[in-house]
Amino acid sequence: MIVTTEQCTVVSITQNPIALIERAGRVCYKSEDKTCPGSGVKLVTKLIESGHESVLEHANMTVKVVCDRGISHEIVRHRLASYSQESTRYVTYDTGAVILPIFDDSSGNVPLDEQIGFDLLAGEGAFADLYTRLTSIELRWLFACLNDMRTYQTQIIDGVAPQMARANLPTCLKTEIFITMNMREWRHFILMRGGTGAHPQVALIADAIYRYLYSVNPVLVKNRVIQKPLPDCRIIKIKEEL
Ligand SMILES: Cc1cc2nc3c(=O)[nH]c(=O)nc-3n(C[C@H](O)[C@H](O)[C@H](O)COP(=O)(O)OP(=O)(O)OC[C@H]3O[C@@H](n4cnc5c(N)ncnc54)[C@H](O)[C@@H]3O)c2cc1C
Repeated sequence: MIVTTEQCTVVSITQNPIALIERAGRVCYKSEDKTCPGSGVKLVTKLIESGHESVLEHANMTVKVVCDRGISHEIVRHRLASYSQESTRYVTYDTGAVILPIFDDSSGNVPLDEQIGFDLLAGEGAFADLYTRLTSIELRWLFACLNDMRTYQTQIIDGVAPQMARANLPTCLKTEIFITMNMREWRHFILMRGGTGAHPQVALIADAIYRYLYSVNPVLVKNRVIQKPLPDCRIIKIKEEL
C-alpha cells in the first residue's frame, strides 16, 4: 500500500487569458480601439470590481488533482465544471494508495514526498522508516487502512467484483480527477475552498490553484485570498504539463 499526498498539475489553460477576456469585454462597450499594453489588466480589474464577472467565463483552465475520495467529493459539488474521475467500479486496486490525512491542522503533518510515497510491500526497511516518521494517531490510521485494503484484496481474490468490493475502501483512498472550470468558477472555488471553514486538504488545493493563477497574472485572483492556515510541510508544488 502506498501512502502519499496531494498533487496538482495544470494540463491546459487558455493562452493569454487576460487578452481573451479583454477582447470579449470590449465588445460590450465597443471600446476595442482602447486596447493597448496594460489595458487588459485595467479592464479585468474593472470587470471584477463591478461584479461583471461573466466575461471571465471565456477563459478556462484544466487541472489534474490527486487527492482522497472525501476531498474529491467536496470538489465535485462545484457544478459549473467538467470532471473525469478514476472509477472505483472499473479500477481494481492491487496495491492501493491512500492520502495521508491532516489530523491536526494547527500543527501540520509529517512531510512526505508526494512523488515517492511508501510502498509497504517493499520490505521492512520502508515500513521502519514510516514507523519513525508518523505520529501515533497516524499509525493507528495506517493500520486501519491496511486492514481495509486486505479485506478488499481478499474479496477480489474470492471473485467479488471491484464495484462491490469497493465498499471496503476507506475515504482516504487516493483518487485522480481532471477538472475543467472557467476563471469565474475557479475564483469561486478559491473563495469557498480557501476560506476559514474549508477542510485543510481541499484548502491546500485551492492554495495551489490560487498561487498558479497569481503567477499567470495576479488580476485573475483579485479580491481572493487563502484564509485557511495551511501546514508548511504540505504546501503543494503545482506542476505544469501544458
Ligand atoms: C466550508 C464548507 C462547508 C460545507 N458544508 C456542507 C455540508 O455540510 N453539506 C453540504 O451538502 N454541502 C456543504 N458544502 C458544499 C456547499 O454547500 C456547496 O455545495 C459547494 O461549496 C458548491 O458551491 P456553490 O453551490 O456556491 O457553487 P457552484 O456549484 O460552484 O456554483 C457556482 C455558483 O453558481 C451559481 N449556481 C450554481 N448552481 C445554481 C443553481 N442551481 N441555482 C442558482 N445558482 C446556481 C451560484 O451562485 C453558485 O455560487 C460546504 C462547503 C463549504 C465551502
